[in-house]
Amino acid sequence: MPYDRLLAPITIGGVTLPNRVVMGSMHTGMEDRSKHFGELAEYFAERARGGTALMITGGFAPDATGWLLPAGSQLTSSRAADKHQVITDAVHEAGGRIALQILHAGRYGYHPLVKSASAGKSPISKFAARAMSGKDVERTIGHYARAARLAMQAGYDGVEIMGSEGYLINQFLTARTNQRTDQWGGSASNRMRFPEQVVRRVRESVGEGFLLIYRQSLLDLVPDGQSWEETVELAQRVEQAGASVINTGIGWHEARIPTIVTSVPRGAFASVTGKLRSHVQVPVMASNRINTPEVAEQILADGQADLVSMARPLLADPEFVRKAEQDRADEINTCIACNQACLDHTFKNQRASCLVNPRAGRETTLRLVPVGPHAARSVAVVGAGPAGLAAAVASAERGHRVTLFEEQDEIGGQFRYAMRIPGKEEFAETLRYYTRRLQVLGVEVRTGTRPAEAELAAYDHTVVATGVTPRIPPIPGIEHPKVVMYDDLLSGRATAGARVAVIGAGGIGFDVSEYLLHDGDETLQHWKARWGVMDPEQTRAGLGPKHDEAPKRTVHLLQRRPAPLGKGLGKTSGWVHRQTLKDSGVEFIGGVTYDLIDDEGLHITVRTGDGRDSKEPDAEARSDQRLLEVDTIVICAGQESVREMASPDDPSWHLVGGADVAAEVDAKRAIRQATELAARL
Ligand code: NAP
Ligand code: SF4
Repeated sequence: MPYDRLLAPITIGGVTLPNRVVMGSMHTGMEDRSKHFGELAEYFAERARGGTALMITGGFAPDATGWLLPAGSQLTSSRAADKHQVITDAVHEAGGRIALQILHAGRYGYHPLVKSASAGKSPISKFAARAMSGKDVERTIGHYARAARLAMQAGYDGVEIMGSEGYLINQFLTARTNQRTDQWGGSASNRMRFPEQVVRRVRESVGEGFLLIYRQSLLDLVPDGQSWEETVELAQRVEQAGASVINTGIGWHEARIPTIVTSVPRGAFASVTGKLRSHVQVPVMASNRINTPEVAEQILADGQADLVSMARPLLADPEFVRKAEQDRADEINTCIACNQACLDHTFKNQRASCLVNPRAGRETTLRLVPVGPHAARSVAVVGAGPAGLAAAVASAERGHRVTLFEEQDEIGGQFRYAMRIPGKEEFAETLRYYTRRLQVLGVEVRTGTRPAEAELAAYDHTVVATGVTPRIPPIPGIEHPKVVMYDDLLSGRATAGARVAVIGAGGIGFDVSEYLLHDGDETLQHWKARWGVMDPEQTRAGLGPKHDEAPKRTVHLLQRRPAPLGKGLGKTSGWVHRQTLKDSGVEFIGGVTYDLIDDEGLHITVRTGDGRDSKEPDAEARSDQRLLEVDTIVICAGQESVREMASPDDPSWHLVGGADVAAEVDAKRAIRQATELAARL
């Protein structure tokens, strides 16, 4: 077998799993109301059918003080437990196993009832927590045990106690958030008493033979986080108290070091899991940026873990394990760690889905039902960017006869540019996936071809996915040779000098700036040095000083709206982009009017004050003229639709992706729209 370690069975806590793949907990939004449990059941069942050995639900609070959101998911009564049976039955019928995660958010809760080890507010919630009394602590431990017992009643195979990412248990564990002087605080050993007691009481309430996973933070990545000695002691105490597995988490949510975005190298933190493994008897599970069977297999082969936890990769492809088993790993729809449709949705209180798999979270409503041979239609798809590729593959999966036309010599559209950005190399995986699926499904791909409208008339359906073209803003001097369009730069048709102004600070302006500053394919060692991630045995919580190489160029990033820049970037990844550029000395300028481009460079007027800067709301309005003496001006001013071919009056013609709406040219919308269309054809 190609992945013999990953696909080998393992017995943990009396439960035998057929392989080492665990779907880690991820809040989808379907947990919050039992009316969505039918959909949640199908979401998990699809992944169980795809071969995932064990799945862990999104977090359920043990009581109202532990909610993530007002009236959020909780498991507190027998009546509520009965409603979960639809989920556990569906998973068991599909041959899988499922554990319920018990999560008390503590001061991360976004509601007025929040309580924590000590009083205080976290940087990610506007609600200040009240300190738990000694009685509250005892009661909360009892509520964990109650939730575990109810999970057992509901038919779950186990529970996971959420003890990482900065939630309540972490808040008890560190001096940063625990200033108690009773038996639950004061010393590191006292601070560990809370998780230890939680695990002990949970084990007592469920007995043996029920999985008890403890998710432990191995690297807090926040000041005053746990030391390595404390981490090891905690793992051993938790094991003694009855945990059957230790799942390893990295970084509190408030940490200012990225842990899961696409620029984090694959398997970046598995070595820390490996470090813990020799200190405990129970199996350990690695997580974070493990997105292919190769990476997972290597982690097991290197002896760093006994199991691997993947959440987003199984959102992206429910058949991940089955494809690995059948030696079809090249057909896996790989998670590109963009967070755009999963975590960014969760943090906006929207249902989680997946950019590359819009069916995730919509398994019961967005179905690609196969058509019989008599209902199969001929479908022409014009344009092989994300929208066209999704339309072609989804239509062919249903059984239609598909021809895909692409004017360029290669498929990929805007994704070809994205994959050239340092830290966005994963985008190439999506093109590998589509290329292979087109082959397997027998789609006729005609690159370097622009079909005539008469030729398209022969098809039952024509999908116009001709994408976008970069907008050329009407700036005096825009024809100057210093001016370069972003697509010319990223495709290598144009180059940039040492001093560059980037016009437009949307997603592409930020990406282009990173491209101008750094080379791609950064090593793990360099990435860790750049963010100051250290060996936890050397520095508390794995935090150290940041070291960066000198940037390749001087870059000014500009927009017409007043500062701050990058507000529209993804909720979970935008801060990483902003920090990376700031660390490389990029000058952010908002409130700009572009006056002229000439041999001297870019002439601008910058408006400040007048309440434009939230940090200086009372500053007087000013307009300053500036000359940016640059060699190159890169235009990233958005896009316009390419739709010469669209024939909207004809019901057999369908417009999708950027060709439909360029204003938000956005792969998430494009792929979803194209897949929804294919489901209807
Ligand atoms: P965008 O986000 O719409 O940004 C366009 C930028 O150009 C804005 O900063 C806008 O700011 C400026 N602009 C617009 N019209 C202009 C004009 N006539 N003259 C001068 N400046 C003008 O578009 P994008 O950057 O091309 O990104 C497109 C889409 O790709 C995004 O919506 C996003 O979905 C996706 N994307 C996301 C990321 C990410 O999140 N990391 C990365 C890449 C792409 P002002 O109007 O204030 O000047
Ligand atoms: Fe992965 Fe992006 Fe899909 Fe989330 S939206 S699962 S990060 S590919």
